Amino acid sequence: MKDFWKMPLAELRDCAAEETLRRHGRTVTYVVNRNANFTRVCTVGCAFCGFGKRPGTLGATSDRIDEVVARVGKTPWVTEVCLQGGIDPELRPEYYFDLVRALREAFPWMHLHAFSPMEIDSLCEKAGCGPEEMMGKLRAAGVGTIPGTAAEILVDEVRRKISRNKLPAARWVEIVQAAHRAGVRSSATILFGHVERWEDIRSHFEILRRVQEETGGFTEFRTLGFCALPKSFGGAACSACRWYQGAGGADPEEGNAAVPFGSDGFRRSDSEPSDQLG
Ligand code: SF4
Repeated sequence: MKDFWKMPLAELRDCAAEETLRRHGRTVTYVVNRNANFTRVCTVGCAFCGFGKRPGTLGATSDRIDEVVARVGKTPWVTEVCLQGGIDPELRPEYYFDLVRALREAFPWMHLHAFSPMEIDSLCEKAGCGPEEMMGKLRAAGVGTIPGTAAEILVDEVRRKISRNKLPAARWVEIVQAAHRAGVRSSATILFGHVERWEDIRSHFEILRRVQEETGGFTEFRTLGFCALPKSFGGAACSACRWYQGAGGADPEEGNAAVPFGSDGFRRSDSEPSDQLG
């Protein structure tokens, strides 16, 4: 067996291309995705985040369900809606179920890729139930897949530095496994390029591989490059990110700086689900 960690990059790339061709031939598919962020209120306070707003601060708002439905209705041609938001203690689990039901009813042709493991963890706490039960409820409401965000780096030592209030690595794995077992597949992600070391990245991949071997539930792997912001680790603003810099650029719903967007505000993806937040 080849040791991928020791392979020159070009060889690794060729191996990946060969394997993709073997498994999928030359078929390439894509979805037309939009994000529909429903709340910017967040009490978690991740060090890298330019999205969440502390309750009571400027811009800390949550949308009514009819507002989200109306926004999505402006782009009826999309095939997938990604729902993610901050962790707003005031939003009850019923809001999430009703939001999903309302979108399913209004746009039955759209796939709903909804709620990160962090949001699901918070929903479990609010509802007083375990991840299996919560995933059953979300699936019954109409969730199709979940974003594998909030993974960042699945090493608690790193998580303590960049997002110490976020769910621990083992809980992320528990929730993703529960989703897969409930028939709700997910993406897998990594937020890289901050304080992690190579061995942390390797541990991250090993955890994802173990989950995939057990459940086969990951549909795709998405890399999220860390985008240094003025508020994050003393970094400089990223020139690619118009929204964070407030330069009259993108709408927050267009996603984070790690994701390229077309001029019409929609990301073309070559695979099924897609993610936005870290
Ligand atoms: S990354 Fe998510 S959980 Fe963390 S502060 Fe931002 S919105 Fe909140």
